[in-house]
Amino acid sequence: MAGKWYYGDTHMHTTTSDGKMRLYELIARAKKNSLDWIIITDHNADCVEESFDSEGLTVIRGQEITVDAGHVNVWGAKIPDNPPYDIPDEKAYADIMERCRKAGSTVCLNHPYCSQCGFRVPIDNLPADCVEVWNTIQHSDNVRNMNWWVNQLKQGRHIAAVGGSDYHSDQVGIDMMAMPTTVTFAGSKSPEDILRALREGRSVITNKPGTSMIYLTIGEAMLGDTVKLEPELKGKCKVTKLLPGFEIKIFNNDTVIYSHKAKKYEKRHDVEFIVREPGYVRAEIDMHLNAPIKKLVGYAETKYLAPRCEVPPETADELFWAFTNPIWIEE
Ligand SMILES: [Zn+2]
Ligand SMILES: [Zn+2]
Repeated sequence: MAGKWYYGDTHMHTTTSDGKMRLYELIARAKKNSLDWIIITDHNADCVEESFDSEGLTVIRGQEITVDAGHVNVWGAKIPDNPPYDIPDEKAYADIMERCRKAGSTVCLNHPYCSQCGFRVPIDNLPADCVEVWNTIQHSDNVRNMNWWVNQLKQGRHIAAVGGSDYHSDQVGIDMMAMPTTVTFAGSKSPEDILRALREGRSVITNKPGTSMIYLTIGEAMLGDTVKLEPELKGKCKVTKLLPGFEIKIFNNDTVIYSHKAKKYEKRHDVEFIVREPGYVRAEIDMHLNAPIKKLVGYAETKYLAPRCEVPPETADELFWAFTNPIWIEE
C-alpha cells in the first residue's frame, strides 16, 4: 500500500467545553508540535461542524460523548442525536454507537479503565472501531487499557488501538498536547484517509513527535494487514531512538519472540524475526520503573488520578513508551 506516516492526536478539548484554549490557539499549538492532523472532541458539543484544512494541518470534526456510563469519541460525521444523551446501560450505548457508525463516523472507546472516568458498563460487546489504549501522560491506568486490548486481540477481534492526549491545558509547565501521538500510515492526510487508517489499525502510538518510532513489517505486509502463515515467515522491525534501559519486545500472540534492552542510547535498532503461530504479531517498547521511580509515580497517581477510587489501583512495574497495532497471521 502506498502511503506516508502522519502524526496526529485523536482527542482534544477547546473552550467549547472545558478546554483552556480556543480553536485557533489549539491549531497554532498543533502546528508547533509538527502534527499533520488533529481531531477536536469536546464533551457533548461540536466545536467544529465540518472537517477542514488549516495550511496543511487537517482538522477533523469530532465529539466526546460524555456520560456516566463511559466516554466515547465519535469522529467524522455528526452524531445523529443531540445532547443530553440518555445512555443508562450497555444496550443504549451500543445503539447510539451503531447509529453513529451508520452515519459514517469512526467510534472509539475512550480511556476504558481510567480510575476516574472509565466505563461503568461492560465494554466487551460495544461496537467500537477503536480503543484509546493510551490516554494522556503515561500512567498505570493505561496498562489496564492495554491488558484489555491484548485480550481482545487474543480472541481475534480486530479493534484498533489509538492514543489521545485528551488535551485540556498544559500542566505544571508541560505541553500535554500530542502526549501521546498516534502515527498513522495513510494514503493522504485527508480526514477520510486518516480515519480509515485509524479504523484499520495502521498506526503506532508513541510518547510525543520526535521520540521513538517502531516500523514493523512482514514481507510486504504492514500494520493492519493479514498475511498467511508459512514456514520461515520472516518479519522485520526497525526501532528509532531507544533510550538506555528501554526494552523493545516483539510478540507473536502472548509469546515474546524477540526482546532487547538498550544499554546505551541507540539511534536505531534493527531486527529480523520468524513468525511461528497464527494470530498476530505486534511490537512494544517498555520502560521498567525502579523502586524510587515507582514510588514517585505511585504518589502522583494516588494524588491526581485516583481520588474517586475507594482503593487506589496499584502502580505498574512497567509502562509502555511506544507500541504498534498488530499484523494479523492466518493459517
Ligand atoms: Zn473522557
Ligand atoms: Zn476528553
